[in-house]
Amino acid sequence: MSPRPITQSRKLQDVRYDVRGPILVEAQRLEAEGHRILKLNIGNPAPFGFEAPDTILQDMIHNLPQAQGYSDSRGIYSARTAVANYYQSRGLQETYVEDVFIGNGVSELISMVLQAFVDDGNEILVPAPDYPLWTGAVSLSGGVPVHYLCDEEADWAPDLADVEAKITERTKALVIINPNNPTGAVYPESVVKALVDVARRHDLVVFADEIYEKILFDDAVHHHAAAYAGDDVLCLTFSGLSKAYRVAGFRSGWVMVSGPKERAADFLEGLTLLSNMRMCANVPAQHAIQTALGGYQSIEELILPGGRLLEQRDLAHRMLNEIPGVSSVKARGALYCFPRLDPEVYPVEDDEALVIELLRAKKILVTHGTGFNWPRPDHFRLVTLPGVEVLEEAIERIAGFLAGVRAG
Ligand code: PLP
Repeated sequence: MSPRPITQSRKLQDVRYDVRGPILVEAQRLEAEGHRILKLNIGNPAPFGFEAPDTILQDMIHNLPQAQGYSDSRGIYSARTAVANYYQSRGLQETYVEDVFIGNGVSELISMVLQAFVDDGNEILVPAPDYPLWTGAVSLSGGVPVHYLCDEEADWAPDLADVEAKITERTKALVIINPNNPTGAVYPESVVKALVDVARRHDLVVFADEIYEKILFDDAVHHHAAAYAGDDVLCLTFSGLSKAYRVAGFRSGWVMVSGPKERAADFLEGLTLLSNMRMCANVPAQHAIQTALGGYQSIEELILPGGRLLEQRDLAHRMLNEIPGVSSVKARGALYCFPRLDPEVYPVEDDEALVIELLRAKKILVTHGTGFNWPRPDHFRLVTLPGVEVLEEAIERIAGFLAGVRAG
């Protein structure tokens, strides 16, 4: 008898994470053949010449000898205090050290929170498009991700009527990603307030992914969902060091709990249990949190006039909109743009196949829109991290490829 195949868990049946999926496998295959691939599929600042503030590096190095042991499962005291103080300084009252959990990046905390919260069949409202970890992590926890649409015509703000329409008696939580990956939207106060009000009316927990809160362009202002959730809507606010502090590789993030914590005591006990089971987050990286939040905010130099991230956003926006049949809403924050391919001009049926064709033809890796749970094959996401020269060439190559698609 031949041995049985060793298969993956059925829990993974509905789990996808396309930004590092088949498109990346194909990119790696081409690299192995000797091609140079420009990878614009992941929001990872360091490989594009962005360096962490030196104070953060020095702090980690300095603390390394004291960081050899496990820490408290929720995180070292100084990091948790720094996070609680940070939100207090942002006007959120009632944020205390015991409300903060430190994790190996926001990614780990999203998975942990959902595992602690979701029962089989619970529905969680997730934006479309979304950062696909949210959809995947809901499925993995036994829940059902239900996508509410964001409206490209309204600068990609969530369609509130669609949010309401998707609520059932099984709905337990609402995910808000603001500033948004992949669209670059930064929600006005009225939208954040309205979303939290929906949660309030339907007794939903709010999961606010705010990892790009400091990467804002022009006059965009970030509004914390927790500020409107007050003391009657449970809100978990996620953020970390990967983006604004450019140390994605350190794996350092946090979640802060606010609102009716006593009512949520059982859930929070579950979260503490899962936090205990994984011992603690990487301790050296926890030491960077206090310095990052309390120190000089060098991200400002990158997003204000003359700043690299702003210039790159502007260049990408202009060049993409110059391509016939392509339109791209101006990103107001984060590190991406999410252009639309007019289906009359580009009758695409399979957008993943399209980006693989682009990859093979032009050696540029972007991510297809359906990889972000966007329902139609008419978008792709471009990471705007490369310096202007590289970015310019990349978009020229994309334009050349699309000219061929139009002609064909
Ligand atoms: N949330 C959003 C919206 C993201 O875009 C990302 C990374 O791209 C993450 C969370 C994960 O961040 P971390 O590096 O902290 O795990």
